[in-house]
Amino acid sequence: MRVFNFNGGPAALPTPVLERVAAETLDWNGTGMSIMENSHRAKEVVAMAEETQADLLELLGLGADWKVLFCQGGASLQFAMIPLNFAQGAECDYLDTGLWSTKAYQEAQICGAKPHIAASSKGDDFTYIPSEFNYSKAPKYVYFTSNNTVRGTQWPTFPKKAPAPLISDMSSEFLSRPLDLTDFVLIHAGAQKNVGPAGLTIVLIKPEWANTGAKGLPHLLDYRTYIEHDSMFNTPPVFAIYVAGLVFKWLKNDIGGLGNIQKLNAAKAKALYEAIDQSGGFYQGTARKDSRSPMNVTFRLVNADLDKPFLEEAKKAGMVGLNGHRSVGGMRASLYNAVDMAAVKTLIDFMAEFQKKRG
Ligand SMILES: *Cc1c(COP(=O)(O)O)cnc(C)c1O
Repeated sequence: MRVFNFNGGPAALPTPVLERVAAETLDWNGTGMSIMENSHRAKEVVAMAEETQADLLELLGLGADWKVLFCQGGASLQFAMIPLNFAQGAECDYLDTGLWSTKAYQEAQICGAKPHIAASSKGDDFTYIPSEFNYSKAPKYVYFTSNNTVRGTQWPTFPKKAPAPLISDMSSEFLSRPLDLTDFVLIHAGAQKNVGPAGLTIVLIKPEWANTGAKGLPHLLDYRTYIEHDSMFNTPPVFAIYVAGLVFKWLKNDIGGLGNIQKLNAAKAKALYEAIDQSGGFYQGTARKDSRSPMNVTFRLVNADLDKPFLEEAKKAGMVGLNGHRSVGGMRASLYNAVDMAAVKTLIDFMAEFQKKRG
């Protein structure tokens, strides 16, 4: 039996996508073998990868001034590649909103950049998205995490009038809403939150910007290598690209695009946050209301002794992945695209029942 999966990542994938993967496991696309057994140079695989890139650009409404890259090494390798390419020996600004932006900042230090924290919500335990900025004079870029997976906060709108192009880690919200990328030159997202299996990192980059990068880097650390070889300089994570491609088709054809998925996501988040807010303090949201993420709903129980029974009973009722990130504890329900309203309603009913028994 399939469970309701609220994992922070790797996370739920759409059931129709998984069914399709299962159906094609022994014979993909008439090749007589699975996608995993095909050469990445096979014409069917190359066509699939190209179609996946085109579908993604179409979903996001982006034109030929953007390029889709299939990278590996997770979001974490992007923390290093970005400063290595674009800020060696130079200033770059970081907006510090929690674990992942802090890690990105630290990686920039290691990579020979001069990162500067231009805004931070650390003073209030990363419970909100900052609105005051103290940019450096001429940063190479401004970097932020658009959705903070651990703290359950999200930038409702992106920074305006920054002194440099924007770069963002969008791992835990990628494709959950339409994006205005006017001020951006690069965004990246680990696939395992909202797109597909772990092992694939989607990078969207403006080739014009990639060309400003440092020369002489090892090939796989240089964005130009991926652009020039269409992400096939070496063997890419073919299976993960294929599943991501099916997810893009699902978003396009079954859901009807990012405007629709945003509405569905907003309705799920609204229902759950309301249940938390109307629990009389038995459940407490941990992020400030104006900064709440529709993707990762973080909350605590009135008494931490109830955490264990809450998780155990939820599991018995068919719900998994509700524990908070190990660095903060508490609870987190990740409501990624593939988590539907039925899952959220089941959780809300369970929470009310649990409160009745234990409150
Ligand atoms: C999960 C996550 C990461 C970590 O990604 P890896 O692929 O494990 O390197 C980084 N940033 C954000 C926002 C995340 O949600």
